Amino acid sequence: EPALKPPGVSFLTEDQEAKVRESGQAYQFETEVNKLMKLIINSLYKSKEIFLRELISNASDALDKIRFASLTDKDALGDTVDLKITLVADKERQTLTITDTGVGMTFKDLKSNLGTIAKSGTAEFLASVESQKNNTNLIGQFGVGFYSAFLIADRVTVVSKNNEDKQYIWESTSESDFRIIEDPRGNTLGRGTQIVLHVKKDALEYLEQSKLRQLVQRYSEFINFPIYLWASKT
Ligand code: ADP
Ligand code: MG
Repeated sequence: EPALKPPGVSFLTEDQEAKVRESGQAYQFETEVNKLMKLIINSLYKSKEIFLRELISNASDALDKIRFASLTDKDALGDTVDLKITLVADKERQTLTITDTGVGMTFKDLKSNLGTIAKSGTAEFLASVESQKNNTNLIGQFGVGFYSAFLIADRVTVVSKNNEDKQYIWESTSESDFRIIEDPRGNTLGRGTQIVLHVKKDALEYLEQSKLRQLVQRYSEFINFPIYLWASKT
């Protein structure tokens, strides 16, 4: 049964995704990112669901940024005036997609925000955590951010469009590198970011409507934008 899809949100086909892997320019993750990803995967496997808290909070931050910009620049919103977050679970392709109409990322943003760790103190944090045994609490408090996507996904594709640049596709399997390519489809988002999680076999419960609804309810409490959930019942 094909997945229910919201109108106005476009998705990459499998062929288009394969093209990113074949012809995208490869970049190395910063060493700290590799360390953080290993740490997340090894210590938070029992609290996988926090990935959704992190991705919703990033979407909300991005929406706050464009809303703030629009206060002083009446053209900032352009044609994409609805500020929202849309979740789509596709059981057929085993993907969970989170789309926001936030500020989006330029090529440069994608390369640095999703390839390095800007947060100060991360190196120290990683060192202190490595020397401890039960560090799950510490990591949870630190807020692991975007890379927590790899708790439930073995491949993550990010499509993003910022007002200052073209639309780009970023992709990684959490190994040592990631790829970026200009989106051959042009601008499909209007503005914002779409994160496609290719869900691991042991995390398919995160495609279930009931599970997602429960998590969205829990994590949307302090989010000031509507969150729409598209998931089939069976
Ligand atoms: P943090 O949110 O603490 O900065 P994250 O790892 O969660 O750390 O995200 C890293 C950065 O990637 C963010 O600061 C932001 O610049 C960028 N980013 C992540 N998700 C999005 C998104 N949905 N829209 C725009 N930018 C994003
Ligand atoms: Mg974050």
